[in-house]
Amino acid sequence: MRSAAINVDIDSLHLYYRIHGLDEARATNAVWERGVVRFAELFAEVGVRSTFFVVASDLSRWPAAREIAQDLVARGHELASHSLTHPYDLVRQHDRFVRNELERSHAILSELRNAPVTGFRAPGYTMTPRVMRLLAETGYSYDSSYFPSPPYYFAKLGVLASMLVRGKKSESIVGPPSILWKSRLPSFEEGLVELPVTVLPGIRFPFIGTSLLMMKQRGYRLIKPLLARVPFVNLELHGIDLCDLDADGIDPVLLKQPDLRVPLADKLALFREVFSDLRDGWGVDTLEALAPRLVPHP
Ligand SMILES: [Zn+2]
Repeated sequence: MRSAAINVDIDSLHLYYRIHGLDEARATNAVWERGVVRFAELFAEVGVRSTFFVVASDLSRWPAAREIAQDLVARGHELASHSLTHPYDLVRQHDRFVRNELERSHAILSELRNAPVTGFRAPGYTMTPRVMRLLAETGYSYDSSYFPSPPYYFAKLGVLASMLVRGKKSESIVGPPSILWKSRLPSFEEGLVELPVTVLPGIRFPFIGTSLLMMKQRGYRLIKPLLARVPFVNLELHGIDLCDLDADGIDPVLLKQPDLRVPLADKLALFREVFSDLRDGWGVDTLEALAPRLVPHP
């Protein structure tokens, strides 16, 4: 049986300033107030439920974020944890630090949705067996952090190396290369269901929002036959994917982010097409609903 999930990582603008080694003092709340709101509208139009991965400390940082998150719950979407503060080097931290990130985000989001949170996605797709075990111990039942894509991995390595050469420091890290030969399909690991972000058969080209925005509608239509061979599609998007540089007053210094270089109307048309294809060809549900169906507990 085929199935698909669509999910949005809500990375606020200050995180993009950090990735690019810029001063984050000018960061606004456009990702929540514009990007996330537009995603909720588009999901309602297409008629699908999705999973939003929330950095729990955003809810006290921005009062509007809490209201928007409550609205997502009311619309039937799943809230899952994207950690407490989005530390890019989470997997390099000691157990006590990691536990704090996992436990506090779990408590804050469970209270807000009025049901225990079950899912987690690590900052920067970096996950290790040790952190997986800590997730299982702190009450999570699935993880969706693995992104076994060599093209993405080496592109990220290249960006970080070139920043280093220019004397700039990014907070982003690359995880161990062992991720590259992980299964691209759901599995059971360290007491948790692992639902990897989708990579296409063959060279494992990433099928995520950023790559879709770069290939545009024409490119998407070219890769559709490859996508058709994927039994479980886990499409990962970011809140910034539906932000508009001009309309949302976003600092042009963030144009380094490829998602911001595409006009909003084009992005909406592309995502509308992709979401409708997933709904009609696979059937879309939340990761929380799909996890036990895809990988029955052994
Ligand atoms: Zn993130």
